[in-house]
Amino acid sequence: MLDIAIIGAGPAGLSAAINGVIRNKKVIVFGRDPKSSYLYKAEKVDNYLGLPNISGPEMIHQFIKHAQDLGVEFHEGRVLEVFPMGDYYTLNAENEFFEARTVIIATGVPKAKYIPGEKELLGKGVSYCGTCDGPLYRGKTTIVIGEIEEAEEDVNFLREICSKVYFLPTYKEVKYVPSDVEIIRGKPKEIFGDPFVSGIKIDDRELKVDGVFLIKETIPVTQLIKGLEMDGKTIKVNRQQETNFPGVFAAGDCTGKPFQVTKAVGEGAVAALEAVSYLHKLESKNK
Ligand SMILES: Cc1cc2nc3c(=O)[nH]c(=O)nc-3n(C[C@H](O)[C@H](O)[C@H](O)COP(=O)(O)OP(=O)(O)OC[C@H]3O[C@@H](n4cnc5c(N)ncnc54)[C@H](O)[C@@H]3O)c2cc1C
Repeated sequence: MLDIAIIGAGPAGLSAAINGVIRNKKVIVFGRDPKSSYLYKAEKVDNYLGLPNISGPEMIHQFIKHAQDLGVEFHEGRVLEVFPMGDYYTLNAENEFFEARTVIIATGVPKAKYIPGEKELLGKGVSYCGTCDGPLYRGKTTIVIGEIEEAEEDVNFLREICSKVYFLPTYKEVKYVPSDVEIIRGKPKEIFGDPFVSGIKIDDRELKVDGVFLIKETIPVTQLIKGLEMDGKTIKVNRQQETNFPGVFAAGDCTGKPFQVTKAVGEGAVAALEAVSYLHKLESKNK
């Protein structure tokens, strides 16, 4: 059982991680590669105290190295869902399951937009993970809509079990997709079907499909933990970075403006220290 599970390996998540480890807690950071942090896109950062004139990629690599040097453990991949289990949480990290007493959400700017029909048909033909839900679509027709290169792994898996796989990449360079997968370009307009997915509209074209796999950069936080209270598009937190779920904290861009490294690092530290004191209270309650 982990003490603290941190979702996101940007400045907020890494700051939370080093503070958790320094307080002797068992911590894992779940995250995609460093390039997925917004900080990686910054050509130059000049407003972070003590590290003037540094590039975003250099800064994130220094943060990661600091965390690694302190012994922070990392688990690569997206967390798809967090399930409340009483006084702990279960995390589904692309079909690997972890248990943690506390969770810190540090997933960055909420950028996931929904395709019409996506929310309504989630779990009824719409999935966020091909390798997890693929076996339900054996012999059927599916489409993978990939925002990130990892989608190609889902495509390669699905083509082995489905009768037909379409692939709609929304990024530029497709690396490896076999020729029996039909690559299409266009804008997904609507996923439809009642009560299960029966098709998808892409621009003016309709495709008959049984399953739609949306391989997104970020899972919408409201899907990550069902019932998470929001303040508009961002996660509602108090000054202790607490959410409406006991033991679940949020930090960084996902809690709102200003979108700045200093704020992300500060909130990450507060979230970790509050998680530590929550753990201590839980321990004395269970004695
Ligand atoms: C072009 C640009 C320039 C910028 N310049 C500056 C600047 O000069 N100064 C400054 O202070 N700030 C700057 N920023 C803002 C700064 O980069 C962000 O405020 C900061 O990165 C926020 O940190 P974060 O940890 O909250 O989110 P992020 O750094 O975005 O990290 C979030 C991480 O969580 C991961 N993640 C998301 N969902 C999941 C999931 N379900 N499972 C696992 N992992 C997940 C993402 O892949 C990502 O790696 C700039 C941003 C941009 C885009």
